[in-house]
Order: sequence, then structure tokens, then C-alpha cells
Amino acid sequence: MVIHTRKCKICNNISEDELCQICCDEYRNREELCIVNSVNDLFILEELRQFNGKYFVIESIEECDFTQLENMVKNGVKEIIFAISPSYENDHLILKIEDQLQDYDIKYSKIAQGVPTGVSLENLDSLSILRSFQSRVDA
Ligand SMILES: [Zn+2]
Repeated sequence: MVIHTRKCKICNNISEDELCQICCDEYRNREELCIVNSVNDLFILEELRQFNGKYFVIESIEECDFTQLENMVKNGVKEIIFAISPSYENDHLILKIEDQLQDYDIKYSKIAQGVPTGVSLENLDSLSILRSFQSRVDA
């Protein structure tokens, strides 16, 4: 049997139907929207079972349909969480989204940057070390 998959019309997740299971799930918090760069990242976050909001997959700024994103935001989003890796393009994406959605009262957050578990500092790039240092917490 071949399962035909396509993109969810709301969030771009892969789906067998027009809308994916997450978008159809009424028990998920529609006030929290998590932006990810790929369906793979979405699956990784889902496996952690930490987040019960909705997702929106943006693979690149060029491909992002901001009207589609705004339609989701209109549906009650109060916080947008950027679960994307730091890069020039992603920083640009964050600014662009904040600009596009400036008429809405939304809290923006992004995942903290830290030193990955089990990785020594000498194996990290200096920007990662710098950002970890700047966002240091009480020990
Ligand atoms: Zn969906």
C-alpha cells in the first residue's frame, strides 16, 4: 500500500489528508505557535513531548507564505517560539516575521543557545561559546 503524503494546508507539516493531525487536534494549545525549519525538526520536538501548541514549518524565507502564517496567527496565537538554529538567514526570518505581524499583540521568544551536552568548548565555534556566555544562568 502506498501512503500518499502531502503538505498540511495550514502548517506545512507532512500529512495524509488536507490537514495534519496536529492541526486537527483540538486539545493542542492554539495560543502557542512554534516555528521550525523542517518537518524533521517538528518530529524531534514532538518526541520531546514538551510542547503542546501548534507548529508552522518554514524551510526558507523565499518559500514562506506569510499570508498563510498570518491566517494561523489570526486564529488566536499569543506567542511565537522560534525553534530554529541561529544563522544569518534565520535572524533575518525572525525580523521579517515580526515585521509582517506587527499589527498583532504577540510575544516572541526563541530557544536558548547553549553548549551541547557532552561537547567540549574547543569543539565549538566561537559564536556559540560567546552566546552561551552571554546567556549564562545562576549555577
Ligand atoms: Zn498542520
